[in-house]
Amino acid sequence: MARVYNFSAGPSMLPEEVLKTAAAEMMEFGESGQSVMEMSHRSKEYQAIFDEAEANLREIMNIPENYEVLFLQGGASTQFAMIPLNLMTKNGKADYIITGQWANKAYKEAARYGAAREVASSKDKTFSYIPKTTAADFDPEADYVHICMNNTIYGTKYNTLPETGDVPLIADISSCILSEPIDVSKFGMLYAGAQKNVAPAGVTIVIIRKDLIGNAMDITPTMLNYSTHSENGSMFNTPPCYAIYIAGLTFKWIKKMGGLEAMKALNEKKAKILYDFLDNSKLFKGTVVPEDRSLMNVPFITGNEELDAKFVAESKKAGFYNLKGHRSVGGMRASIYNAMPIEGVEKLVEFMKKFEEENA
Ligand SMILES: *Cc1c(COP(=O)(O)O)cnc(C)c1O
Repeated sequence: MARVYNFSAGPSMLPEEVLKTAAAEMMEFGESGQSVMEMSHRSKEYQAIFDEAEANLREIMNIPENYEVLFLQGGASTQFAMIPLNLMTKNGKADYIITGQWANKAYKEAARYGAAREVASSKDKTFSYIPKTTAADFDPEADYVHICMNNTIYGTKYNTLPETGDVPLIADISSCILSEPIDVSKFGMLYAGAQKNVAPAGVTIVIIRKDLIGNAMDITPTMLNYSTHSENGSMFNTPPCYAIYIAGLTFKWIKKMGGLEAMKALNEKKAKILYDFLDNSKLFKGTVVPEDRSLMNVPFITGNEELDAKFVAESKKAGFYNLKGHRSVGGMRASIYNAMPIEGVEKLVEFMKKFEEENA
């Protein structure tokens, strides 16, 4: 069977080249006599895979020396608790901007451990925009400000970062990591589950400024303390070895593609094809204000639920998978992460044009 164009929000498509390399190395990695899945994480073969992955991530994201890179488990959702447990510890306060479900989950989890404050929200318009903030909106005594950089469900993205003064900014970049360059030095911490743009589910990448590590609350479980993982090179216990190996292959693929500037150019080109079509269509329309549109997740509607359902069903038959919108918002959503080839977007738009003609 031919591979379909998979527009899933996550887990999502991986680069074909990554899958082919993984397939070729499945039975034996190099001259090791074993699959990466079977290797001891304490072996020198595996340590080399791990070190190369970290080095390549540091290179492509241009991560400064004073930041630690951790490969953890538990998904981005575990970070919702780890962040307050480790960082809401100076003044016991943190500011959150609510731009959707993930941001809200992070906020609610933090509220269990201290004084989490909702600074701004775009809930009034179904999270279809990024709320504007100024430096004065933030509590200078907050231990950090948390944002969700790209809102996977609603299709919005921060194109300008909030001005938080000296308060460290923390961003959930689960659905936009590696999609374009990011100035790591502007953040106290970045984190991302891997299953949107990096690897299969199972590994969570944390990039944290070193001076922020080491102040966890006493109640913090050992496994949820950044110090534990930082002091043990992310190998306090067994890391998600295979997912880290695939992440390493993705990092190499991105390097070969020309790095994050090249990914950005490609992603902008892909997104433009879809947004231009939506802006000119008589049937379909995008749901996000133009200035806050995501490059990765593109929600759209016809305005008629029956027609939406028909479109989802027919698109699946035509080989375009997972275009149904998130269960909480309905409509459609095309997730066009790094691994979605430009032909996938071009062919989707052709299909949408045809659907529009047939259902006018
Ligand atoms: C998918 C997603 C999450 C949840 O990730 P898990 O790894 O499943 O916990 C959190 N935040 C954002 C922005 C996401 O897209």
